[in-house]
Amino acid sequence: MKAIKKLYFKPLMELVEQAHQIHSKNFKPGQVQASQLLSIKTGACPEDCAYCSQSARYQTKIKKEKLLDLKTVLKKAKLAKQQGATRFCMGAGWREVKDNSQFDRVLEMVRGVNELGLEVCCALGMLNRDQAGKLKQAGLYAYNHNLDTSPEFYPKIISTRTYQDRLDTLKHVRKAGLTVCTGGILGLGESHEDRCSFIQQLTLLNPPPESVTINTLVPIKGTPLEKQKPVSALEVARVIAVCRILLPQSMIRLSAGRKNRNPSEQFLCFYAGANSIFIGDRLLTADNPDLETDHNMLKSMGLRISASEQSRIC
Ligand code: SAM
Ligand code: SF4
Repeated sequence: MKAIKKLYFKPLMELVEQAHQIHSKNFKPGQVQASQLLSIKTGACPEDCAYCSQSARYQTKIKKEKLLDLKTVLKKAKLAKQQGATRFCMGAGWREVKDNSQFDRVLEMVRGVNELGLEVCCALGMLNRDQAGKLKQAGLYAYNHNLDTSPEFYPKIISTRTYQDRLDTLKHVRKAGLTVCTGGILGLGESHEDRCSFIQQLTLLNPPPESVTINTLVPIKGTPLEKQKPVSALEVARVIAVCRILLPQSMIRLSAGRKNRNPSEQFLCFYAGANSIFIGDRLLTADNPDLETDHNMLKSMGLRISASEQSRIC
């Protein structure tokens, strides 16, 4: 942890420069991978994640939606592919996967989206080894389950699921031969030490996560964090840079909260090592920049959406 803190508290110019060099050694220049995220079942979640619009414990304006039908999901996936996404992520407002007909329907969705030639990812909450194996068999490529913050700060944000539960889910995902997508949210009220401890958790995952999501809190009216002060782009870039240095081959996805970031702020995050975004104007239940805005922004930076995630050099 000492070495992570030493890195984290480096002068930002030096840190971002170091991260950019490492990024350039591991990834082809100018490429940003695009994913699209669809909420396949929205709201009415029994968990108490303090940031989440989908928690049934908070009075939020969320429009609850039952599990989508296969046809709707495949239509969205086809559109995502046409728009340049190479990964299609299906998120559900669930605490965990249950062995029931809904899970069978999700397995159908995974098969269908996989047949479209997209990397299929699911974020369905906690899951066990057997369920992870079924998802793998159905053609799942990645499973997202975010650690969200440091183990020390976590109990202040969520009480209905332990940090170990999250680590166990990532273990089941890994054992099933799926790639791991995990990460967290900045701006929950965590300290700099918490951020270092969160990053340390990512580096303790062996093998390292293939994909790291860095969200910034989207304050949702009705949730305990609705009045949380936004985190600055400099702080986001600092975390991204440290992740890039310590996880040189991971895709780092600038995720929720990007809608409130201007192009200069996003440029700094790309320079610091972020190389993936979600495209499409909705991110589960939060707004996201529209496709044209993203394309124009990337073009103005000399970046473009990569044809595949394999923009790694080695
Ligand atoms: N229910 C599943 C779970 O909890 O894993 C999937 C839902 S969604 C993919 C969960 C993730 O979205 C959270 O772990 C969090 O990282 C992110 N998220 C949810 N609400 C957010 C918000 N208001 N601001 C930023 N990130 C948020
Ligand atoms: Fe439920 Fe996931 Fe939201 Fe937590 S983050 S309340 S588990 S949908």
